[in-house]
Amino acid sequence: MKEKKKLSLPAWIFIGMFAGILVGLCFLKNPSFTATWIKPIGTIYINLLKCLVVPVVIFSIADGVINLKDLRRVGSVGVKTFVYYMLTTAIAIVIGLLVVNIFKGFFPALDNASLESLEYAAKESPSVMDVIVNIFPSNFLQPMVSTDMLPVIVIALLIGAGVLAAGAEGSMVGRAIKSVNAVVLKIMMMVIKITPIGVFCLMTDVVAANGPKIVGKLFLIIAVAYISYIIHLVVVYGLSVRCLSGMSPIKFFKGMAPAMITAFTTTSSNATLPLTNECVTKLGAKPEISSFVLPLGATINMDGSAIYQAVTSVFIACCYGIDLSIGDMAMIVLTATLASIGTAGVSGAGMIMLAMVLTSIGIPVEGIAIVAGVDKIFDMGRTALNITGDATAALWMSRIEEKKAAKKAAAEANA
Ligand code: ASP
Repeated sequence: MKEKKKLSLPAWIFIGMFAGILVGLCFLKNPSFTATWIKPIGTIYINLLKCLVVPVVIFSIADGVINLKDLRRVGSVGVKTFVYYMLTTAIAIVIGLLVVNIFKGFFPALDNASLESLEYAAKESPSVMDVIVNIFPSNFLQPMVSTDMLPVIVIALLIGAGVLAAGAEGSMVGRAIKSVNAVVLKIMMMVIKITPIGVFCLMTDVVAANGPKIVGKLFLIIAVAYISYIIHLVVVYGLSVRCLSGMSPIKFFKGMAPAMITAFTTTSSNATLPLTNECVTKLGAKPEISSFVLPLGATINMDGSAIYQAVTSVFIACCYGIDLSIGDMAMIVLTATLASIGTAGVSGAGMIMLAMVLTSIGIPVEGIAIVAGVDKIFDMGRTALNITGDATAALWMSRIEEKKAAKKAAAEANA
Protein backbone atom coordinates (compact mmCIF):
# COMPACT_ATOMS: atom_id res chain seq x y z
CA MET A 1 0.00 0.00 0.00
CA LYS A 2 1.28 3.46 -0.87
CA GLU A 3 2.10 5.52 2.20
CA LYS A 4 0.17 8.80 2.42
CA LYS A 5 2.41 11.85 2.16
CA LYS A 6 2.08 13.99 5.25
CA LEU A 7 1.77 17.75 4.80
CA SER A 8 4.64 19.77 6.24
CA LEU A 9 4.19 22.37 8.97
CA PRO A 10 4.70 25.31 6.55
CA ALA A 11 1.96 23.86 4.33
CA TRP A 12 -0.37 23.64 7.32
CA ILE A 13 0.42 27.23 8.26
CA PHE A 14 -0.53 28.35 4.72
CA ILE A 15 -3.74 26.36 4.94
CA GLY A 16 -4.48 27.89 8.36
CA MET A 17 -4.07 31.40 6.98
CA PHE A 18 -6.30 30.91 3.92
CA ALA A 19 -8.93 29.05 5.87
CA GLY A 20 -8.86 31.94 8.35
CA ILE A 21 -9.47 34.46 5.56
CA LEU A 22 -12.38 32.44 4.18
CA VAL A 23 -14.02 31.85 7.54
CA GLY A 24 -13.43 35.50 8.49
CA LEU A 25 -15.28 36.60 5.34
CA CYS A 26 -18.22 34.39 6.34
CA PHE A 27 -18.40 36.19 9.69
CA LEU A 28 -18.21 39.75 8.35
CA LYS A 29 -21.75 40.39 9.55
CA ASN A 30 -21.20 38.79 12.93
CA PRO A 31 -17.68 39.73 14.09
CA SER A 32 -18.66 39.40 17.75
CA PHE A 33 -18.91 35.63 17.26
CA THR A 34 -15.30 35.40 16.11
CA ALA A 35 -14.21 37.82 18.87
CA THR A 36 -15.91 35.70 21.52
CA TRP A 37 -15.23 32.19 20.32
CA ILE A 38 -12.39 32.10 17.83
CA LYS A 39 -10.02 34.91 18.81
CA PRO A 40 -9.48 33.55 22.38
CA ILE A 41 -8.00 30.37 20.93
CA GLY A 42 -5.56 32.54 18.97
CA THR A 43 -4.85 34.43 22.19
CA ILE A 44 -3.98 31.16 23.94
CA TYR A 45 -1.48 30.45 21.18
CA ILE A 46 0.07 33.93 21.51
CA ASN A 47 0.14 33.64 25.31
CA LEU A 48 2.05 30.38 25.08
CA LEU A 49 4.57 31.95 22.75
CA LYS A 50 4.87 35.06 24.88
CA CYS A 51 5.49 33.22 28.12
CA LEU A 52 8.48 31.57 26.52
CA VAL A 53 9.97 34.76 25.08
CA VAL A 54 12.07 35.79 28.08
CA PRO A 55 13.56 32.33 28.73
CA VAL A 56 14.26 31.87 25.02
CA VAL A 57 16.01 35.22 24.71
CA ILE A 58 18.00 34.93 27.94
CA PHE A 59 19.22 31.40 27.34
CA SER A 60 19.68 31.57 23.59
CA ILE A 61 21.69 34.81 23.72
CA ALA A 62 23.75 33.69 26.71
CA ASP A 63 24.36 30.33 25.04
CA GLY A 64 25.12 32.07 21.73
CA VAL A 65 27.74 34.26 23.40
CA ILE A 66 29.28 31.28 25.21
CA ASN A 67 29.42 29.31 21.96
CA LEU A 68 31.33 32.12 20.27
CA LYS A 69 34.03 31.19 22.81
CA ASP A 70 35.88 34.47 22.61
CA LEU A 71 34.71 37.89 23.80
CA ARG A 72 36.41 39.61 20.87
CA ARG A 73 34.39 37.47 18.48
CA VAL A 74 31.19 38.46 20.31
CA GLY A 75 32.17 42.11 19.89
CA SER A 76 32.96 41.79 16.20
CA VAL A 77 29.70 39.94 15.34
CA GLY A 78 27.76 42.36 17.57
CA VAL A 79 29.14 45.52 16.00
CA LYS A 80 28.67 44.28 12.42
CA THR A 81 25.13 43.17 13.17
CA PHE A 82 24.26 46.49 14.79
CA VAL A 83 25.64 48.53 11.87
CA TYR A 84 23.79 46.30 9.37
CA TYR A 85 20.54 46.69 11.31
CA MET A 86 20.80 50.47 11.50
CA LEU A 87 21.77 50.88 7.84
CA THR A 88 18.93 48.72 6.53
CA THR A 89 16.50 50.58 8.79
CA ALA A 90 17.63 53.96 7.44
CA ILE A 91 17.28 52.64 3.84
CA ALA A 92 13.79 51.36 4.70
CA ILE A 93 12.74 54.81 5.90
CA VAL A 94 14.11 56.49 2.76
CA ILE A 95 12.15 54.00 0.60
CA GLY A 96 9.02 54.72 2.64
CA LEU A 97 9.50 58.47 2.28
CA LEU A 98 10.06 58.24 -1.48
CA VAL A 99 6.93 56.14 -2.04
CA VAL A 100 4.74 58.22 0.25
CA ASN A 101 5.84 61.44 -1.45
CA ILE A 102 4.80 60.04 -4.83
CA PHE A 103 1.28 59.47 -3.54
CA LYS A 104 1.11 62.57 -1.36
CA GLY A 105 -1.12 64.49 -3.74
CA PHE A 106 -3.93 61.95 -3.29
CA PHE A 107 -4.11 62.16 0.50
CA PRO A 108 -7.13 63.93 1.97
CA ALA A 109 -6.64 67.17 3.90
CA LEU A 110 -9.17 66.76 6.69
CA ASP A 111 -11.29 69.73 7.76
CA ASN A 112 -10.74 71.37 11.13
CA ALA A 113 -13.95 70.02 12.64
CA SER A 114 -13.04 66.41 12.11
CA LEU A 115 -9.48 67.01 13.29
CA GLU A 116 -10.64 68.68 16.48
CA SER A 117 -12.82 65.73 17.31
CA LEU A 118 -9.84 63.40 17.16
CA GLU A 119 -8.94 61.85 20.42
CA TYR A 120 -5.92 59.74 20.93
CA ALA A 121 -4.69 59.32 24.44
CA ALA A 122 -1.04 59.31 23.53
CA LYS A 123 1.00 57.19 25.82
CA GLU A 124 4.04 59.08 26.93
CA SER A 125 6.68 58.20 24.37
CA PRO A 126 10.19 58.20 25.86
CA SER A 127 12.82 60.73 24.85
CA VAL A 128 15.88 59.58 22.92
CA MET A 129 18.09 59.70 26.04
CA ASP A 130 15.47 57.75 28.00
CA VAL A 131 15.54 55.03 25.36
CA ILE A 132 19.30 54.75 25.78
CA VAL A 133 19.31 54.89 29.61
CA ASN A 134 16.48 52.33 29.85
CA ILE A 135 18.59 49.77 28.00
CA PHE A 136 20.61 49.26 31.18
CA PRO A 137 18.65 47.55 33.95
CA SER A 138 18.85 48.63 37.57
CA ASN A 139 17.47 45.31 38.68
CA PHE A 140 18.17 41.80 37.43
CA LEU A 141 14.64 40.44 37.61
CA GLN A 142 12.38 43.41 36.89
CA PRO A 143 12.94 43.50 33.09
CA MET A 144 12.21 39.77 32.90
CA VAL A 145 8.94 40.19 34.78
CA SER A 146 7.82 43.12 32.65
CA THR A 147 9.19 41.56 29.41
CA ASP A 148 11.30 44.62 28.77
CA MET A 149 13.46 43.15 26.06
CA LEU A 150 16.37 45.60 25.69
CA PRO A 151 17.49 45.25 29.33
CA VAL A 152 16.80 41.50 29.13
CA ILE A 153 19.25 41.33 26.23
CA VAL A 154 21.85 43.27 28.22
CA ILE A 155 21.44 40.80 31.11
CA ALA A 156 21.83 37.84 28.74
CA LEU A 157 24.94 39.38 27.19
CA LEU A 158 26.41 40.00 30.64
CA ILE A 159 25.75 36.42 31.73
CA GLY A 160 27.35 35.04 28.55
CA ALA A 161 30.32 37.40 28.84
CA GLY A 162 30.71 36.53 32.54
CA VAL A 163 30.86 32.81 31.80
CA LEU A 164 33.51 33.37 29.12
CA ALA A 165 35.54 35.66 31.35
CA ALA A 166 35.42 33.16 34.25
CA GLY A 167 37.03 30.50 32.04
CA ALA A 168 37.28 27.03 33.62
CA GLU A 169 35.53 28.16 36.79
CA GLY A 170 32.48 29.29 34.85
CA SER A 171 32.24 26.22 32.65
CA MET A 172 29.68 24.52 34.88
CA VAL A 173 27.32 27.47 34.55
CA GLY A 174 27.99 27.44 30.80
CA ARG A 175 26.94 23.79 30.58
CA ALA A 176 23.86 24.46 32.71
CA ILE A 177 22.82 27.31 30.39
CA LYS A 178 23.28 25.06 27.37
CA SER A 179 21.15 22.38 28.95
CA VAL A 180 18.34 24.75 29.98
CA ASN A 181 18.46 26.31 26.51
CA ALA A 182 17.91 22.87 24.95
CA VAL A 183 14.91 22.29 27.21
CA VAL A 184 13.38 25.70 26.48
CA LEU A 185 13.78 25.15 22.75
CA LYS A 186 12.04 21.77 22.99
CA ILE A 187 9.09 23.42 24.75
CA MET A 188 9.08 26.01 21.98
CA MET A 189 8.90 23.28 19.35
CA MET A 190 5.81 21.90 21.05
CA VAL A 191 4.11 25.28 20.86
CA ILE A 192 5.24 25.77 17.26
CA LYS A 193 3.35 22.62 16.32
CA ILE A 194 0.03 24.35 17.01
CA THR A 195 0.92 27.38 14.86
CA PRO A 196 -1.57 26.49 12.06
CA ILE A 197 -4.45 26.59 14.56
CA GLY A 198 -3.23 29.85 16.09
CA VAL A 199 -2.78 31.42 12.64
CA PHE A 200 -6.26 30.29 11.56
CA CYS A 201 -7.98 31.77 14.63
CA LEU A 202 -6.11 35.08 14.51
CA MET A 203 -6.66 35.53 10.78
CA THR A 204 -10.37 34.77 11.07
CA ASP A 205 -10.77 37.48 13.67
CA VAL A 206 -8.75 40.12 11.78
CA VAL A 207 -10.78 39.61 8.60
CA ALA A 208 -14.13 39.53 10.39
CA ALA A 209 -13.34 42.57 12.54
CA ASN A 210 -11.70 44.82 9.97
CA GLY A 211 -13.78 43.89 6.96
CA PRO A 212 -13.48 45.80 3.70
CA LYS A 213 -15.22 48.93 5.02
CA ILE A 214 -12.64 50.43 7.36
CA VAL A 215 -9.81 49.23 5.19
CA GLY A 216 -11.45 50.96 2.22
CA LYS A 217 -11.35 54.33 3.95
CA LEU A 218 -7.64 54.24 4.53
CA PHE A 219 -6.90 52.06 1.56
CA LEU A 220 -4.41 54.42 -0.05
CA ILE A 221 -2.10 54.84 2.93
CA ILE A 222 -2.22 51.11 3.66
CA ALA A 223 -1.31 50.47 0.03
CA VAL A 224 1.58 52.95 0.25
CA ALA A 225 2.92 51.17 3.34
CA TYR A 226 2.62 47.75 1.71
CA ILE A 227 4.24 48.93 -1.55
CA SER A 228 7.18 50.22 0.53
CA TYR A 229 7.33 46.98 2.55
CA ILE A 230 7.43 44.96 -0.66
CA ILE A 231 10.08 47.15 -2.32
CA HIS A 232 12.28 46.87 0.77
CA LEU A 233 11.68 43.13 0.98
CA VAL A 234 12.48 42.39 -2.65
CA VAL A 235 15.22 44.94 -3.33
CA VAL A 236 17.11 45.31 -0.04
CA TYR A 237 16.67 41.81 1.41
CA GLY A 238 16.85 40.20 -2.04
CA LEU A 239 20.16 41.96 -2.73
CA SER A 240 21.40 41.27 0.79
CA VAL A 241 20.93 37.50 0.59
CA ARG A 242 22.19 37.36 -2.99
CA CYS A 243 25.30 39.54 -2.55
CA LEU A 244 26.19 39.13 1.12
CA SER A 245 25.05 35.58 1.83
CA GLY A 246 25.42 34.11 -1.69
CA MET A 247 21.92 32.61 -1.60
CA SER A 248 19.14 32.69 -4.15
CA PRO A 249 16.48 35.16 -2.96
CA ILE A 250 13.75 32.75 -4.07
CA LYS A 251 15.17 30.00 -1.89
CA PHE A 252 15.41 32.50 0.95
CA PHE A 253 11.83 33.77 0.71
CA LYS A 254 10.50 30.22 0.32
CA GLY A 255 12.43 29.10 3.37
CA MET A 256 11.27 32.08 5.39
CA ALA A 257 7.57 31.78 4.44
CA PRO A 258 6.43 29.92 7.61
CA ALA A 259 8.03 32.54 9.87
CA MET A 260 6.71 35.40 7.72
CA ILE A 261 3.15 34.09 7.88
CA THR A 262 3.41 33.59 11.61
CA ALA A 263 4.74 37.14 12.04
CA PHE A 264 1.94 38.40 9.77
CA THR A 265 -0.74 36.86 11.93
CA THR A 266 0.74 37.17 15.44
CA THR A 267 2.07 40.71 14.78
CA SER A 268 4.88 40.03 17.22
CA SER A 269 8.55 39.60 16.30
CA ASN A 270 9.24 38.19 19.76
CA ALA A 271 6.53 35.60 19.53
CA THR A 272 7.75 34.60 16.06
CA LEU A 273 11.35 34.20 17.23
CA PRO A 274 11.32 30.39 17.45
CA LEU A 275 9.97 30.06 13.92
CA THR A 276 12.44 32.60 12.58
CA ASN A 277 15.20 30.59 14.22
CA GLU A 278 13.90 27.33 12.79
CA CYS A 279 13.69 28.80 9.26
CA VAL A 280 17.18 30.35 9.21
CA THR A 281 18.71 27.19 10.64
CA LYS A 282 17.14 25.21 7.82
CA LEU A 283 18.52 27.79 5.39
CA GLY A 284 22.02 27.10 6.73
CA ALA A 285 22.63 29.76 9.40
CA LYS A 286 24.96 28.76 12.23
CA PRO A 287 23.01 28.18 15.44
CA GLU A 288 25.53 30.04 17.63
CA ILE A 289 25.18 33.08 15.35
CA SER A 290 21.41 33.05 14.91
CA SER A 291 20.81 32.54 18.62
CA PHE A 292 22.62 35.81 19.16
CA VAL A 293 21.64 37.85 16.08
CA LEU A 294 17.91 36.98 15.94
CA PRO A 295 16.79 37.92 19.47
CA LEU A 296 18.81 41.11 19.14
CA GLY A 297 17.07 41.83 15.83
CA ALA A 298 13.63 41.02 17.19
CA THR A 299 14.22 43.79 19.70
CA ILE A 300 16.16 46.50 17.90
CA ASN A 301 15.76 45.87 14.17
CA MET A 302 12.38 47.00 12.87
CA ASP A 303 12.55 47.99 9.22
CA GLY A 304 8.82 47.46 8.74
CA SER A 305 7.97 49.56 11.79
CA ALA A 306 10.32 52.29 10.58
CA ILE A 307 8.64 52.36 7.14
CA TYR A 308 5.25 52.54 8.83
CA GLN A 309 6.38 55.43 11.01
CA ALA A 310 7.73 57.33 8.01
CA VAL A 311 4.71 56.91 5.72
CA THR A 312 2.08 57.54 8.38
CA SER A 313 3.92 60.68 9.61
CA VAL A 314 3.73 62.17 6.13
CA PHE A 315 0.11 61.04 5.77
CA ILE A 316 -0.95 62.54 9.10
CA ALA A 317 0.91 65.77 8.27
CA CYS A 318 -1.09 65.95 5.00
CA CYS A 319 -4.34 65.41 6.89
CA TYR A 320 -3.42 68.44 9.01
CA GLY A 321 -2.45 70.40 5.91
CA ILE A 322 1.18 70.58 7.08
CA ASP A 323 3.86 70.53 4.40
CA LEU A 324 7.01 68.78 5.54
CA SER A 325 10.39 70.23 4.56
CA ILE A 326 13.50 68.25 3.60
CA GLY A 327 14.80 68.98 7.12
CA ASP A 328 11.64 67.40 8.55
CA MET A 329 12.20 64.35 6.35
CA ALA A 330 15.79 64.06 7.62
CA MET A 331 14.41 64.31 11.16
CA ILE A 332 11.99 61.47 10.33
CA VAL A 333 14.91 59.29 9.18
CA LEU A 334 16.77 59.95 12.42
CA THR A 335 13.90 59.62 14.88
CA ALA A 336 12.23 56.70 13.12
CA THR A 337 15.55 54.80 13.21
CA LEU A 338 15.80 55.44 16.95
CA ALA A 339 12.10 54.78 17.45
CA SER A 340 12.50 51.41 15.77
CA ILE A 341 15.23 50.50 18.29
CA GLY A 342 12.91 51.47 21.12
CA THR A 343 9.93 49.67 19.58
CA ALA A 344 9.34 46.42 21.43
CA GLY A 345 8.85 43.34 19.26
CA VAL A 346 5.23 43.03 20.31
CA SER A 347 1.89 43.75 18.73
CA GLY A 348 1.08 47.42 18.29
CA ALA A 349 4.33 48.79 19.72
CA GLY A 350 5.13 50.66 16.50
CA MET A 351 2.08 52.86 16.91
CA ILE A 352 3.17 53.96 20.37
CA MET A 353 6.59 54.91 19.07
CA LEU A 354 4.98 56.84 16.21
CA ALA A 355 4.26 59.51 18.84
CA MET A 356 8.00 60.06 19.19
CA VAL A 357 8.40 60.67 15.44
CA LEU A 358 5.37 62.97 15.20
CA THR A 359 6.52 65.04 18.17
CA SER A 360 9.98 65.49 16.65
CA ILE A 361 8.49 67.17 13.57
CA GLY A 362 5.78 69.11 15.36
CA ILE A 363 2.69 67.18 14.25
CA PRO A 364 -0.14 66.78 16.77
CA VAL A 365 0.11 63.35 18.36
CA GLU A 366 -3.70 63.05 18.27
CA GLY A 367 -3.24 62.45 14.53
CA ILE A 368 -2.40 58.86 15.40
CA ALA A 369 -6.15 58.39 15.86
CA ILE A 370 -6.56 58.70 12.07
CA VAL A 371 -4.62 55.49 11.47
CA ALA A 372 -5.16 53.74 14.82
CA GLY A 373 -8.28 51.89 13.66
CA VAL A 374 -6.37 49.98 11.03
CA ASP A 375 -3.11 49.63 12.93
CA LYS A 376 -3.45 45.88 12.91
CA ILE A 377 -3.33 45.85 9.11
CA PHE A 378 -0.14 47.93 9.08
CA ASP A 379 1.29 45.83 11.92
CA MET A 380 0.85 42.54 10.06
CA GLY A 381 3.03 43.66 7.16
CA ARG A 382 5.59 45.50 9.25
CA THR A 383 6.15 42.55 11.59
CA ALA A 384 6.64 40.16 8.65
CA LEU A 385 9.24 42.58 7.27
CA ASN A 386 10.90 43.04 10.67
CA ILE A 387 11.65 39.37 11.17
CA THR A 388 12.79 38.88 7.57
CA GLY A 389 15.41 41.58 8.09
CA ASP A 390 16.69 39.78 11.18
CA ALA A 391 16.99 36.58 9.17
CA THR A 392 19.12 38.25 6.46
CA ALA A 393 21.55 39.38 9.15
CA ALA A 394 21.77 35.89 10.67
CA LEU A 395 22.62 34.43 7.26
CA TRP A 396 25.21 37.09 6.46
CA MET A 397 26.95 36.83 9.83
CA SER A 398 27.01 33.04 9.50
CA ARG A 399 28.63 33.37 6.08
CA ILE A 400 31.29 35.72 7.44
CA GLU A 401 32.04 33.31 10.28
CA GLU A 402 32.19 30.36 7.89
CA LYS A 403 34.63 32.19 5.65
CA LYS A 404 36.79 33.12 8.65
CA ALA A 405 36.82 29.51 9.84
CA ALA A 406 37.76 28.26 6.36
CA LYS A 407 40.60 30.80 6.14
CA LYS A 408 41.88 29.79 9.54
CA ALA A 409 41.75 26.11 8.64
CA ALA A 410 43.61 26.77 5.39
CA ALA A 411 46.28 28.79 7.20
CA GLU A 412 46.70 26.00 9.77
CA ALA A 413 46.98 23.39 7.02
CA ASN A 414 49.68 25.43 5.30
CA ALA A 415 51.62 26.03 8.51
N1 ASP B 1 4.59 44.36 15.94
C1 ASP B 1 5.91 44.76 15.55
C2 ASP B 1 6.90 43.64 15.84
O1 ASP B 1 6.67 42.84 16.72
C3 ASP B 1 6.35 46.01 16.21
C4 ASP B 1 5.48 47.15 15.77
O2 ASP B 1 4.38 47.28 16.29
O3 ASP B 1 5.90 47.89 14.87
O4 ASP B 1 7.90 43.55 15.21
